[in-house]
Amino acid sequence: METRIGIAGAGFAGAVLARELAESGRFHLTVYDERTHVAGNCHTSRDAATGVMVHEYGPHIFNTSREDVWQYVNRWSKFHPYVNRVKAVTAEGVYSLPINLLTINQFFDRKLTPAQARDFVGSLGDGSIGEPRSFEDQALKFLGRDLYQNFFYGYTKKQWGVEPTELPASILKRLPVRFNYDDNYYNQTYQGIPENGYTRIVEKILDHPRIEVRLGERLHPEDAAGFAHVFWSGPMDGYFGYRLGRLNYRTLRFERFEESGDHQGNAVINYCEEQVPYTRIAEHKHFAPWETHEKTVCFREYSSHCEPGDTPYYPMRLEDDKEILGRYVDLARKVPNLTFIGRLGTYRYLDMHVVIGESLDLAKTCLASERSEWPKFSGAPL
Ligand SMILES: Cc1cc2nc3c(=O)[nH]c(=O)nc-3n(C[C@H](O)[C@H](O)[C@H](O)COP(=O)(O)OP(=O)(O)OC[C@H]3O[C@@H](n4cnc5c(N)ncnc54)[C@H](O)[C@@H]3O)c2cc1C
Repeated sequence: METRIGIAGAGFAGAVLARELAESGRFHLTVYDERTHVAGNCHTSRDAATGVMVHEYGPHIFNTSREDVWQYVNRWSKFHPYVNRVKAVTAEGVYSLPINLLTINQFFDRKLTPAQARDFVGSLGDGSIGEPRSFEDQALKFLGRDLYQNFFYGYTKKQWGVEPTELPASILKRLPVRFNYDDNYYNQTYQGIPENGYTRIVEKILDHPRIEVRLGERLHPEDAAGFAHVFWSGPMDGYFGYRLGRLNYRTLRFERFEESGDHQGNAVINYCEEQVPYTRIAEHKHFAPWETHEKTVCFREYSSHCEPGDTPYYPMRLEDDKEILGRYVDLARKVPNLTFIGRLGTYRYLDMHVVIGESLDLAKTCLASERSEWPKFSGAPL
């Protein structure tokens, strides 16, 4: 007999898991999404005025080094090769990101080789900083004041809404500089954009006789009684009615504008100055260079603190958040027949390929074990 499973959320986390479990033939899955579309924050749709495929919740470029995840997404769609090359507008001019040899040579008006640039940037760092305690310390230690001030300070403050001195050093884990002319934003083996958008992929993933999709419907914790097990890709604090407090998120607002031709000549341009109120402008037709459109549609992206009722985008994971998160995790471990999955369920910033990979792995674990042994989380929240 089929076991009934409920899933909150038809994003990649919920959809991939639903499909893998459905294909085993042992389960019937009901997938709820309170939105009226599938694909969660990766949702894409054709803009009615311009015909451009728009990434409704911000630009999404698929990238992964996991062979099985790449094979998986290619099962559902043709992917066009796409390299994300971001530009940065700073007080001093327009430069290439991530900071690379071209950025360094143009910004400092030099003609340095890779080895010379490494020594040069090394000499800019603030040697008086021992163990960096904040994002700012970390940046100053490795890059020095000029690069930090022009490329990181304003952008980081706008993105996170706090002084970079209040952010952990771990945000800037590695030296964010390349000493060659590689301006590919990602370091992964595979990178691409799906021909007909992400929503089409998720629709296909969910198209299975053992999967019922209910759009515009929220799954409530008390609905769990109707299911043998529930997978929850909504916010973990929301599941518990915020009883221990709210985890901090950043939310985004997108300001749309359209014009004819080409607005900025690139898909993504970051605005690093603090005085410019938005963090970046995305011109979506450049994500699909194989298409032709006379008009263009762009979105200015504004970041702000996520208040009740706003859409949560980026988990902040400040020290206070981690303390509350730890207590929610303890609560979560005690709820039977429930697994938290995905970006919101585990309160981590996760790229699509990580979410898909975790759902594939989780499905394997579930299919190989007794239901009472199923994991509490698709990935460790802490
Ligand atoms: C601005 C931005 C840009 C990004 N760019 C990239 C990129 O370029 N490349 C990349 O790989 N990744 C990118 N990501 C990450 C990507 O968006 C996530 O990896 C992906 O959305 C995670 O999928 P998910 O299923 O965990 O969550 P989501 O996509 O958030 O889906 C969760 C869904 O669950 C629904 N839901 C929640 N609770 C309930 C409930 N109780 N009942 C019913 N429905 C519920 C929500 O409505 C939502 O639709 C970006 C993220 C952001 C914020």
